[in-house]
Amino acid sequence: MFVCLCNRGAYCYVSRSRTGRIGWLHADPTYAPFGSARDGRGRAGPFLRDRWPREKALEYFRDKDQVYKVEIIENLPDKEVGIYQQHNFLDLCRGPHVENTGQIGPFKLMRVAGAYWRGDEHRPMLQRLYGTAWFTQEELDQYLWRLEEAQKRDHRKLGKELKLFVLSDEVPAGVPLFLPRGEMLRHQMESYVRETQERYGYQHVWTSHLGKVHLYKTSKHWYKYRDTMFPVMQGEQEPSEDDAYVLKPMNCPHHILLYKSQMHSYRELPIRYAEFATLYRYEPAGTLTGLARVRSLTQDDAHVFLRSDQIQEEFNRAIDLTLEVFNTYGLTDYWISLSLRDPAKQEVYAGDAETWDKAESVLRDAVKNKGIEYREVIGEAAFYGPKTDFMVRDALGRDWQCSTIQLDFIQPENFELEYIGEDGQPHRPVMIHRAVTGSTERFMALLIEHFAGAFPVWLSPVQAMIIPIADRHIEYANNVMDALKAAGVRVEVDARGERMNAKVRDAQLQKIPYMLVVGDKEMAENAVAVRLRTNENLGAMPLANFVERITGIIRTWSREL
Ligand SMILES: [Zn+2]
Repeated sequence: MFVCLCNRGAYCYVSRSRTGRIGWLHADPTYAPFGSARDGRGRAGPFLRDRWPREKALEYFRDKDQVYKVEIIENLPDKEVGIYQQHNFLDLCRGPHVENTGQIGPFKLMRVAGAYWRGDEHRPMLQRLYGTAWFTQEELDQYLWRLEEAQKRDHRKLGKELKLFVLSDEVPAGVPLFLPRGEMLRHQMESYVRETQERYGYQHVWTSHLGKVHLYKTSKHWYKYRDTMFPVMQGEQEPSEDDAYVLKPMNCPHHILLYKSQMHSYRELPIRYAEFATLYRYEPAGTLTGLARVRSLTQDDAHVFLRSDQIQEEFNRAIDLTLEVFNTYGLTDYWISLSLRDPAKQEVYAGDAETWDKAESVLRDAVKNKGIEYREVIGEAAFYGPKTDFMVRDALGRDWQCSTIQLDFIQPENFELEYIGEDGQPHRPVMIHRAVTGSTERFMALLIEHFAGAFPVWLSPVQAMIIPIADRHIEYANNVMDALKAAGVRVEVDARGERMNAKVRDAQLQKIPYMLVVGDKEMAENAVAVRLRTNENLGAMPLANFVERITGIIRTWSREL
């Protein structure tokens, strides 16, 4: 017996039968044959929509012994139910449907899986059919390609194959362990952002991994996020006492302490504190996905303390920095989600309407002036200020939420922050919370999937693999390695007793950008034979030329090989 769940909001399932005809899996084969998309004269069959009174529908389906449909109808609050008919097949469906069978584009049956009726393990198990339908064959092909690619590029799979990280049951779920190559990748990502932030006037600070409950009570984070904080057990102490320790779940209050440790003049602002800090949050187990969602996340976080007349300039600076980083990574497809308040509910937001109006228009203007695609989301602002989230589209067209720039009027109030103005009087600064790539772990997941593991040279954990053809070339291979290491290149020698072709293939599977094959000829000429991971063969070149080439590419964060 087939049960269509259309009345729960889904479209009917359709499938192409082996003969190439379109048939209705919707159908109950006990009382209707698969209908075909077109009849013998090529005419499409219409779908006729009807509304039946509940009682009539109940009677009809009871009569057909359709116990599940009867149950659906009994649970519907409506007095009438939707019915669709095509040829001699009739079924319960909320719709909407296409008008006729001729409008159905190409589709594919994806899989069949057992599913408990209504998701309840105590109920019978039915078969659920999954399919996908598109307007054109091209769209269907594209979709299937993206699905297949997404599987191939899954960062959990590549993370294992490329020896980047490990997920172990011996540590809490959501706490990935990084192998040397994964750590090198993190290190490169963070060094790059660090260097860029310094150019943009940020100073780096360090605030460790522990905080006290009282601090988060002052910042009010405690009241909203206490369930996600990890307490640190200290004997008899109650975990909610002011002096109790917790693993640091966010940096803001800590950076505020740094700001408060000194007097500040209006001339010093903006003050920009940045930190690569690992934060700990008890995310629900069901949401943890490889590196994309973890319980130990490392944010490239920054807090800027500024005067309200500096908001626009500072906001622009944060956008420029973010875009520079995205461009370096070759992530050129992005849009911004601009979260604004709901003006009808001004009372739930901190700060007055005038301040909000000004702040929101500053953010909107900044985004507009940069010519970035953006969408306004009314009512999505935090109670303490409006924000922008950067959504990055990867190579498969999927959106990843990364950077955030968030204005904050309330933390400076909570902590009574001050600076001395031109008038010699204390004034309250504004705060900006800002993350460039978001979390290192999540961004790494994005990069692994976006590049399918073939990172740009500057980011690759191993940038070149030297492959001696025979044992007598190993010494020369080591000399080449030393020369490259001295030039700052991350390089290894594959001295295994394997055949050269096998070594080349292994290095390619590891997505190592360059393979440097060395044999008698190269040894005699102080040269290397260069192969790319794309399988392109550049032939032999003097070692000095290769050093020049690769160091130039690394220095400019180029994505070329
Ligand atoms: Zn913050």
